[in-house]
Amino acid sequence: MKASTENNNRKTSQFYALVHSKCPRCRRGDVFQNSMYGFKSQKMNDNCPHCNLKFEREPGYFYVAMFVSYGFNVLQMILAGLVTYLITGNTTNPWLYMAVIFPAVVILSPFNYRYSRLILLYYLTPGLNYVPEMSGDRKLIEKRR
Ligand SMILES: [Zn+2]
Repeated sequence: MKASTENNNRKTSQFYALVHSKCPRCRRGDVFQNSMYGFKSQKMNDNCPHCNLKFEREPGYFYVAMFVSYGFNVLQMILAGLVTYLITGNTTNPWLYMAVIFPAVVILSPFNYRYSRLILLYYLTPGLNYVPEMSGDRKLIEKRR
């Protein structure tokens, strides 16, 4: 019993919570219901299973994640092109770049989908901050409500 209390009191780092796609307020509940790469498409929870935060802050909230996703895409395309150039030294054949960049974008699209939304929740939403008290025991949070 004592060990679980200590575990609940330990703060989760923002980096850990972001990488493991945890809720930005309590850093305990999962934002997504399934894994990033799988046969089913990724599905978001409507509310945090731990602290009941509504992830879609307002109607159309996640449209803004498209801009983050666009940024990710541009960076990944530039990096894929640079790596291709550095490895092959080829500057004349555009099909080589197409053959590398297009699959890279397709393979990374689930990553972009997930982390563009998480970056929106973590860094681009004013007023949505980590509340360490929310990461405690779920029964205590429900009692406080
Ligand atoms: Zn939460």
